[in-house]
Amino acid sequence: MKETCPDCKRTNIAEIMYGYPSSKFLDELKKDENKGKYQLGGCCISNDDPAFSCNDCGFLFGNREDEENE
Ligand SMILES: [Zn+2]
Repeated sequence: MKETCPDCKRTNIAEIMYGYPSSKFLDELKKDENKGKYQLGGCCISNDDPAFSCNDCGFLFGNREDEENE
């Protein structure tokens, strides 16, 4: 993850995952190396959801790309 927070300029950024998470993904979330890398965005998807969340200041930014949907 090389995203930078536009607000505090730090790089402690979590990617927001939308939709219902698979059990495999939830297992990945529990791993120590993935702590802080992902945030669950829930199942309510609109057209202007942020793609990233700053772990330091909580700033939400970016745009969720439609092509990232699987
Ligand atoms: Zn920040």
